[in-house]
Amino acid sequence: MQNSISEQAFAEVVVFNALEQALHYVIPAQLGTRAEVGKRVLIPLGRREAVGLIVHIQRQPPDLARDVSMRPVQAIIDEYPIVPEDLIRLSRWVARYYFHPLGKVLQLSCPPGIHPEPVASYRITEEGKKALVAGPPSALLTAVSNGTELTLPQIKARLGTLPSLWKEINLLEKRGWVERRFVWNTPSVRSKSIKMLKLLKPASDLPAHARNEKLQQIMTLLETSGGEMPMKNLRSRTKNPDYWVSRLRREGMVSIHHAEELRESRCAQDLPCLEAPEPSTDQQRILESILPHLESNSFKPFLLYGVTGSGKTEIYLRLIEQALKLGKGVLVVVPEIALSTQLEALFRQRFDASLAIWHSGLPTGARYDQWRQVVAGSKKVVLGVRSAVFMPVSDLGLIIVDEEHDLSYKQEDRLRYHARDVALVRAQMLKIPIILGSATPSLQSFRQSSLGRYELLALTQRILDRPLPSIQIVDMRKEKGEFRILSRQMREAIQETIGNRHQVIIFLNRRGFATFLLCRTCGLVVQCSQCSVSLTYHRDKERMCCHYCGSEYAPSSQCPGCNRSGMVYHGFGTERLEQELRQIVPEARIIRMDRDTVSHPRDMAALLNKVRNQEVDVLIGTQMVGKGHDFPHVTLVGIINADTSLQISDFRAGETTVQLLMQVAGRAGRGVEPGHVIIQTHNPQHYTIASLLDMDYLAFCNQELAAREVLQYPPYTKFLKLLVTAAEEETTRTSAGILVELCREVAVQLRVQDQPVVILGPAPAPLSKLKNRYRWHIFVKAWCNKDLQEFTEAVLAKARELPDLRRVELTVDRDPMSTL
Ligand code: ADP
Ligand code: ZN
Repeated sequence: MQNSISEQAFAEVVVFNALEQALHYVIPAQLGTRAEVGKRVLIPLGRREAVGLIVHIQRQPPDLARDVSMRPVQAIIDEYPIVPEDLIRLSRWVARYYFHPLGKVLQLSCPPGIHPEPVASYRITEEGKKALVAGPPSALLTAVSNGTELTLPQIKARLGTLPSLWKEINLLEKRGWVERRFVWNTPSVRSKSIKMLKLLKPASDLPAHARNEKLQQIMTLLETSGGEMPMKNLRSRTKNPDYWVSRLRREGMVSIHHAEELRESRCAQDLPCLEAPEPSTDQQRILESILPHLESNSFKPFLLYGVTGSGKTEIYLRLIEQALKLGKGVLVVVPEIALSTQLEALFRQRFDASLAIWHSGLPTGARYDQWRQVVAGSKKVVLGVRSAVFMPVSDLGLIIVDEEHDLSYKQEDRLRYHARDVALVRAQMLKIPIILGSATPSLQSFRQSSLGRYELLALTQRILDRPLPSIQIVDMRKEKGEFRILSRQMREAIQETIGNRHQVIIFLNRRGFATFLLCRTCGLVVQCSQCSVSLTYHRDKERMCCHYCGSEYAPSSQCPGCNRSGMVYHGFGTERLEQELRQIVPEARIIRMDRDTVSHPRDMAALLNKVRNQEVDVLIGTQMVGKGHDFPHVTLVGIINADTSLQISDFRAGETTVQLLMQVAGRAGRGVEPGHVIIQTHNPQHYTIASLLDMDYLAFCNQELAAREVLQYPPYTKFLKLLVTAAEEETTRTSAGILVELCREVAVQLRVQDQPVVILGPAPAPLSKLKNRYRWHIFVKAWCNKDLQEFTEAVLAKARELPDLRRVELTVDRDPMSTL
């Protein structure tokens, strides 16, 4: 006889996107063998059903309060685990470190739209049947009267979306004439199926009576396509292919089956296909430092510091090829889709068949197809943006984080994780090497390398010993004349460069035409009605735009404050730059690249292709033009308003400015001709601008680190931001006050154990209102992660008890990258 006790198992299930922690369920015997960690299940949750992920299975009943009765898992959704155990472990770490619900973290390992969704479905009851005969006519009752069950979308399709439909459904339900239940519907990502034709016998076996020209032709085509091809390939060649194929099937020559069609994901730039270059001695040296760790599977972070144009990408390519030879998977994370289109092209040249792409520019279906192939292990290299760190790459053996200093690795809403930091933890858990590459490493990583925690690998020379560009600084305070944006030196250099048939990149980190609209009478600056932000004037669309919430307004010539006319535009963005440039070099071919002209990675790839093919003389744009591009004919880079990003009141302003400007400058002189960079500024004596002159990034790092140490800022300390937001200003302010009291209390308790935690604030955030919500913040500073963890857990536990804090939204931002 079977022993039912030993067969019983219990599952710990996390509901996707929910706030609850893990819940426990019994796995019924009939599902027992199919239950596995990493598979999705359908479970009862309160009075509804939900989709969750099994994160743990145990034989022992879990310790629960006695009055909690465990309910059974209802169904198992997946045939195979969709989230591997190592990602579940990583997600647990992320949930704890960033104080975020596990179900929301796990969601990041799944492509959008893969979960079945509940859809209301209606059926007539016995009562309803009686009512149909006796009562008033009802189209809805009639529709469901023959015993069929109709889902809400089906009802809508039949009866139209009458405004009264909803009311009628509710009424019928209340009277007990129809019954509602929920059915689970698989959503938009369902894979596409196509008909495939398969060869069963060689063409020479075609029987004599079927030796017909058409049939021979199809057989030959099939043989030359490797014995299998989509039916639709025949349609362009043959009239009435179905007829001919049916004849071949009758002869037992071919068969038809259905296969999945994978949706297109390519967004690559067109790159000339070149032979892989022989690694230089520098590149070879670096490869030799990393390869042993790839082979032996050991955790080891490398900081690959290579000046712009030093050939970091070739190192990545060689390492990936090696990993593939060893049967290992590789994860390559880049900060922006902009960078991925160029890398994607290079990757496709070398290992197209193994490559999966992951970014939000892909349609849901294509993304799903990429993800499925990664889970199945048929794509072993994933190239993607931030969220790719959660991709279920199988046999992961190497992680590469390119441009590791980039701020876009930090997600600034919901789960505020830092992709580089999560990647480091993932590498550590899997015991594999990880490479953080950059020409301008973050101070954070640079400090880790000086402490010996990361191995610093430096490429100090450009490839083929090409020189770094020469730098010229122009003091804009001395500029006068008709042109407002471009200095005399810049104008001359642009004309000369174009005259020599070379290309120019001009960088201005502001889009739009004018950066604000000011009233000459009362001094009012026009602001967004939802945000405490001045509006930018966009001339292309004749609108005033808020760059934070996306609201748009018609430009007005009257002041909204004093109603008088005489509004003037101030400041300038890329649209205005383009206009001025066209006056200076009317014959030049100019393109502008910013978020107004590029909305999809394919737009970006198309623009960059034009630059590469020299169909463009001047490329102007925001930071999009500064990132990673490798254009050999660009010899001049102009930087406008180099100091704007220094004005932000953030202790990282110096670091991010130097990184950005050195990256932009690094686009010049990457080919045979040497490059030149002109930097326009109102602050030529500022130490960050001065440090650009000799392009010595490490010297700047050392200087900046010394300053951070004095002030005890990160990386010498750990920061955490508590952001309080609400729709009313008063509620926000008082709640922030209550929260800070609570923080001080907890800090005192911790200090008893001799662990200092410093509380700064509360204060209104510099962006004091966004999307109609007021914002206050509190900064917490600690000297080690453990203290910060303990402190925050205690604060959050107490905050949950306080009714006053339920009126506001409280966001925890660990290791915040922005103080705005
Ligand atoms: P980085 O990413 O460090 O800025 P890239 O990887 O883009 O630099 O390399 C700069 C240029 O040098 C590219 O055009 C690349 O093809 C070329 N390159 C890289 N390695 C070599 C090599 N070993 N020999 C010749 N050219 C190389
Ligand atoms: Zn706004």
